[in-house]
Amino acid sequence: MTDKVKREEGSISIHTENIFPIIKKWLYSDKDIFLRELISNAVDAIHKLQNVNLLENLQLADEYKVNIHLDKEAGTLTVSDNGIGMTAEEVRKYINQVAFSSAEDFIEKFKDMEDKNQIIGHFGLGFYSSFMVADQVEIRTRSYQQDAEGVHWQCAGTTSYTIDPDERQERGTEVVLHLNDEEKEFLEADRVREIIIKFCNFLPVSICLEGEEINDKNPLWTRSASEISEDEYKEFYRKLYPMSDDPLFWIHFNIDYPFNLKGIVYFPHLTHEFDVTKSHIKLFCNQVFVSDNTPELIPEFLTPLQGCLDAPDLPLNVSRSYLQNEPQVRKIREVISSRVAAKVVELAKKDREAFTPIWEDIHSFVKYGMMREDKFYDKVKDHVIYRSTGEDKYTTLPDYLERAKEKHENKVYYANDEGTQATYLKLFKSQGMEAVVLDAMIDNHFIQFLEMKNPDIKFERVDSDVTENLLDRDPTKEIVEGADNKTKGERIEQIFKDELKEINGLHIRIETLKDDSVPGMILLNEQSRRFKEMTRMMGQGEGSDLFADHTLMVNTASPAVDKVLKLQDSGDSETAGLLIEQIYDLAMLSHQALNKERMATFLERSSKLMGMI
Ligand code: ADP
Repeated sequence: MTDKVKREEGSISIHTENIFPIIKKWLYSDKDIFLRELISNAVDAIHKLQNVNLLENLQLADEYKVNIHLDKEAGTLTVSDNGIGMTAEEVRKYINQVAFSSAEDFIEKFKDMEDKNQIIGHFGLGFYSSFMVADQVEIRTRSYQQDAEGVHWQCAGTTSYTIDPDERQERGTEVVLHLNDEEKEFLEADRVREIIIKFCNFLPVSICLEGEEINDKNPLWTRSASEISEDEYKEFYRKLYPMSDDPLFWIHFNIDYPFNLKGIVYFPHLTHEFDVTKSHIKLFCNQVFVSDNTPELIPEFLTPLQGCLDAPDLPLNVSRSYLQNEPQVRKIREVISSRVAAKVVELAKKDREAFTPIWEDIHSFVKYGMMREDKFYDKVKDHVIYRSTGEDKYTTLPDYLERAKEKHENKVYYANDEGTQATYLKLFKSQGMEAVVLDAMIDNHFIQFLEMKNPDIKFERVDSDVTENLLDRDPTKEIVEGADNKTKGERIEQIFKDELKEINGLHIRIETLKDDSVPGMILLNEQSRRFKEMTRMMGQGEGSDLFADHTLMVNTASPAVDKVLKLQDSGDSETAGLLIEQIYDLAMLSHQALNKERMATFLERSSKLMGMI
């Protein structure tokens, strides 16, 4: 039996002076959360009733719902529910004491905090957040218990309250806010709807504005992945991010053990620069929206992930720095990283053709992830694909090495600019050799990283050297000619050296290629080129001239080179010289490395040579 409710006036026991003015000013920009707090309380009250209903088999067959009613004339916003309700005793206990002291704790804890944004997820001020927007708050409530009576609680933003009996017949609670003059915006249905959609859109109980239900009680992540179609996943994504293109792929989390984590994360189409300092995942706690900026939850390299995570176990009333060190959060990060790795492998294995366009969007992130996290690296390393000049257009590293085994074991040839390296790639192709294309920003670092991880494997750019496979080692071509007892190669070398001696840092190397279409090529030693690129990237201009040390490889198989020799032998060393200069410039030109002066003479000489034909 509960006691009869009698009029009572009292004072909320208080430790913090002027708590109401503080609450009113609190988190000015986040005033909207009062509605989230009241609606969450209402939903809790309904859950509590559903529980006793089950336990005590009360057979209450109501349609549970929360309603928000706006009365412009009276200047009130009312949140009502048909949940468990409260007895007078419970009002005294929960509203006067529990709610009040938790608000007090909250203020106490955060009052000195400079940066209020540090309070993750707008930690709930609870029921008392109503005083951020209301001068006066009333509660009319009636407990589910059979002999319960209605209770009317009132408080006008001071520490005094009154409790009266109330006529109320229906079970449940109604919280009436008499809005402050400056807060009349909360009487506008559109404004209120916007807040409800933001915070309460996915609550599991019907949330109605003036009787009309506006939320989605069963958001996609609460359903089983096996019964959700691709279109439904895409539609849900559009609901979360209305202006976006379709996502590339997604992962549905439904984890109960060893912690609770539900949600769907999407890998978006990355069309523009991404703000990596901001996370894009929406965090929920039991379907209540908490925050859309919790970068701690996601491994850094996966910042572009979007979607929602529902982490009911997370203590949300903590600061950012706490969250960063929270073991739960670390576990969540690990789970996400490992599931993304599994997804990448699954996609790569399932359908290479469908995977390649996705890969073009995500490869930088995956590569970055591999460099950042060993576990991630181990999972995806054999499935990462590289664009290749081979027949299949894409290859994994193990496949490439396997195919190349005969010709160049443990060596990966790569191009990072298919334009300037076209001559080399053509040569490769003509000899049935394959190079991978590593032309993204991240690839320089990535190559170094792969070499560190696989000390046996060396990466060499296609222009770093000529491989044995490109060379024609037919000894009969090395005949000694002329009176000076030199081989053809030695003679060519000498003429080229003499002609080009003015050029800084140039070495001449004579080879006979199987392919006779290229007279000369520039070779840049892999290690010294990398070193120079690095110093250049570090902003040290000096010593970073890529061509300060370069080799002109002259191909004795080329008719143009033969011609040089013939002209020389016939005494026309002037024209031979023109040809040599031309061969060098053409080789440099394919690297787009002709300076202004050489470019001018190159053009002039080209015209002259044409006139001579
Ligand atoms: P919290 O919800 O975090 O416990 P609040 O200050 O919001 O803190 O509320 C304090 C208590 O008041 C709740 O725990 C609950 O027992 C009671 N209460 C608040 N709103 C309602 C409601 N609509 N129906 C029933 N009880 C409520």
